[in-house]
Amino acid sequence: MAIAATEPDTATIRAFGPATALSCRECGQRYDLGPRFACDFCFGPLEVAYEFGPLTRESIERGPDNIWRYAGLLPVPDNVADLPNMNPGLTPLVRADRLAAELGLRSLHVKDDSGNPTHSFKDRVVAMAVEAARTFGFTTLSCSSTGNLAGAVGAAAARAGFASCVFIPAGLEQAKVVMAAVYGGRVVALDGNYDDVNRFCSELIGDPAGADWGFVNVNLRPYYAEGSKTLAYEIAEQLGWKLPEQIIIPIASGSQLTKIDKGFRELVELGLVEDRPYKVFGAQATGCAPVARAWEQGHDVIQPVKPDTIAKSLAIGNPADGPYVLDICGRTGGSVEHVSDAEVVDSIALLARTEGVFAETAGGVTTGVLRKLVAEGRLDPEAETVVLNTGDGLKTLNAVDTGVAATIKPSLDAFKDAGLL
Ligand SMILES: *Cc1c(COP(=O)(O)O)cnc(C)c1O
Ligand SMILES: [Zn+2]
Repeated sequence: MAIAATEPDTATIRAFGPATALSCRECGQRYDLGPRFACDFCFGPLEVAYEFGPLTRESIERGPDNIWRYAGLLPVPDNVADLPNMNPGLTPLVRADRLAAELGLRSLHVKDDSGNPTHSFKDRVVAMAVEAARTFGFTTLSCSSTGNLAGAVGAAAARAGFASCVFIPAGLEQAKVVMAAVYGGRVVALDGNYDDVNRFCSELIGDPAGADWGFVNVNLRPYYAEGSKTLAYEIAEQLGWKLPEQIIIPIASGSQLTKIDKGFRELVELGLVEDRPYKVFGAQATGCAPVARAWEQGHDVIQPVKPDTIAKSLAIGNPADGPYVLDICGRTGGSVEHVSDAEVVDSIALLARTEGVFAETAGGVTTGVLRKLVAEGRLDPEAETVVLNTGDGLKTLNAVDTGVAATIKPSLDAFKDAGLL
């Protein structure tokens, strides 16, 4: 009697799961799945296309307690949960009743992505890029980073056994530099802003020196970008398989915002959630608000800016996905807003004081925009609202000006005399 093999037949493991092709976002031209990111015909960005198999809420809920529960919706190997990866995701959706009460909203949640392995949402996107890099046979992982990406790449490269070399603008927060360097890869600071770093990386890709390098957010960008869809899946699942009605998302390149929208639409198409209208609001810091400015002026092209803000993780002056962000915020009935650095600092304190969530400056931007939209009567106070915190306040300590109430002698008398009671 033949004994059935228990090991999966490796020949049947698909390297990209349900993904079938890359397709040009502008002209629809299709390409084989490979390390390419721009259309040969129109230079438009390439995006992963799929044929999804049958998926149910139950099959997803039985999956691992990380983003791989959604592997059936992502361009990753079928056996991804067994591979060495940082396994980010399934971060808390915090019910924010105290903040809601303070603002006058009925139902508010904070999706708190500071709990990922390297303390920002970037672990989600890097997890995808690592799998693509492995499949394509790259030996070094690289990126142009506003800060958080460098740390996520360093850690993921260490876990998965890649070399790494990451590029950052000079003058980043110390915590982000240390987080990037501690995993043993090379960290190179370039004298310039993020847009200069990004331009440099595009040149390096074209040079033989960068031939074996997988740049997670350049030549692996189509795969990388899909990782942001997991935020949409998690938010919907954590709301009890429902879409939120209003969501506030930070914008750096705009990729995350466009992919959260894509994730919501996929859930509807697959019948995993009921279709209901949702409004997408984009959030930027006033010191780097090229998308919000275009929105204000009713333009559909983005005028690049020179960033000057404490929200360094969002400081991209020439955001690649800006035009798509304008489309999505327009189509859903949302908008793109900006808040000043002072409002960012205030909003970090507000979120910490009301909900015990310590956000990095990007979370101050989204919370600030939430507060602004409420104050201006542009959010429906009755609608289910979600605000994103995409990074950890410990990485941007210098942004907050707080500390001990007093330094006193260790005696009861000294405490009573200090007037703190
Ligand atoms: C990178 C980043 C984002 C969003 O980036 P996109 O380029 O718009 O996808 C948001 N928050 C933090 C903290 C980030 O590091
Ligand atoms: Zn094209």
